[in-house]
Amino acid sequence: MVETVVKARVGVLALQGDFPMHVKRLTELGCDVREVRTAQDLEELDALIWPGGESTTMTRVMTDELRAALLEFCSSKPVWGTCAGMIMLAKTHPDPRVKTLELADVLVNRNGWGRQVHSFEAELTLSDSLRTETPFQGVFIRAPRVEMVGEKARVLAWYQDEPVALAQGRILLTTFHPELTHDDRFHRLFLSWIEQPNSAAN
Ligand code: GLN
Repeated sequence: MVETVVKARVGVLALQGDFPMHVKRLTELGCDVREVRTAQDLEELDALIWPGGESTTMTRVMTDELRAALLEFCSSKPVWGTCAGMIMLAKTHPDPRVKTLELADVLVNRNGWGRQVHSFEAELTLSDSLRTETPFQGVFIRAPRVEMVGEKARVLAWYQDEPVALAQGRILLTTFHPELTHDDRFHRLFLSWIEQPNSAAN
């Protein structure tokens, strides 16, 4: 029997922001990585990462066609939003400049850490499934602050008792940037959610 190794085909939304580092990390992890700029680019992907950047700019450059295609893709395949990407997948306070997809029942305050603390690094407390003897260092860059977590979401990491990583179904949300560190725990968790083509029962 010939065993076919199928590489996970993972897209990185490349409208704006921090997408090159995500592409680099996923490539290092052996994924077949595609940059996504149009609705057509989403076809045949197994999963998608929505990188950090600036949610107001992302809202501005997003076409209605891409928005509709993202809504459909993210409701059936694994998707991971980091920082601004997380904002775009969750809910935020009304602001005409930011139109999020509201797929995760999590409310964020986009600039909740205050203007004086734009960026910081901190050791996180991880949920049991991610915890090892090695501490996890979170890199926060103008990070959103989580204000409400709906019943369907579970918390995967905390900073000072506040949720900073969450999962709702196969939506992963991190307010920090795991692609900027070499600790790949969150990447491995996310990639484990991809259904293997060969695992389908028949
Ligand atoms: N504060 C930014 C926003 O509102 C997010 C920052 C980031 O993605 N690093 O979109």
